Amino acid sequence: MIKLDLPIFSNAVEELRLGLIGKRKQYNMTLDEEIQVKEIYDQYELSKGQTQTFLKAEHLDVSFRDAIQLAYKQVAEGKRLEKLRARILLDTQDCTCCGLVGSDTIDHYLPQEDYPVLAVYSSNLIPLCQKCNNKKRSVDGSIPGKRFVHAYYDNLPDNVQFLIAKVAMKEGALMIDFEIDDTSPLDSGLLISLNYQLNRVDFYKRAKRQVNDFLGGLAVYIEQDYHSDKTNGVKTGLERNYHYHLKNSGINNWKTVLFQELMNCTEFCEGGFYTALNIEISKSVFIT
Ligand SMILES: [Zn+2]
Repeated sequence: MIKLDLPIFSNAVEELRLGLIGKRKQYNMTLDEEIQVKEIYDQYELSKGQTQTFLKAEHLDVSFRDAIQLAYKQVAEGKRLEKLRARILLDTQDCTCCGLVGSDTIDHYLPQEDYPVLAVYSSNLIPLCQKCNNKKRSVDGSIPGKRFVHAYYDNLPDNVQFLIAKVAMKEGALMIDFEIDDTSPLDSGLLISLNYQLNRVDFYKRAKRQVNDFLGGLAVYIEQDYHSDKTNGVKTGLERNYHYHLKNSGINNWKTVLFQELMNCTEFCEGGFYTALNIEISKSVFIT
């Protein structure tokens, strides 16, 4: 759920030409095809990646469209256009959709099966994690309300919070839920897209599982903070983590919003973390 700058490329058509030339199979693009590809790329920029029949390039020869898709397969295997793949994936570390894990795959915002000419077009290539990519794959935004946010074109602000965490202690356990804040001043269309994509990639369940592991790894530090300055020590430690993630991962990263709520959960900070994080008090080396 982050906005990325458009990939920097000097000549997208030239990049396609490189992809079409291989050791065994190669396709020599004609000047006419080059012009038509340029028209499609320009139209993609104008529509900001939103679906249009023209972008499907059904007016182009099927052998040309197939050759471009084949070129992408080579990209995926790292044989051709390795630099293109590396450049797209280097743009971000976290998955641009869920932020839960790193982005190690490239998604075609408009799917290459239906939009073959966009198969190696940088602006259509979005870094995602494998799980989000699998869920996003066939979604092209043509059905109202069912659209993913475009990491390059949709204007996701970095100073407006739209992801929130709800934290509560219940019978010694920590209950955490994430949700999109429908009262956020964000554009209503974007809020609908965010809700759709997070449900589609199973973000809420995946985030809850990840929180357990993540906080488990922090348990020893939280306990140290408690022993140095009791409740205040825990709150200060959590606040320090909040500011770190706010600065490095943004206001809508799941870790940022988690710490934002945890540092204000008094029951957790004044000792509830022992049961919440399954810390066995009798084994604590700090207990005196
Ligand atoms: Zn993801």
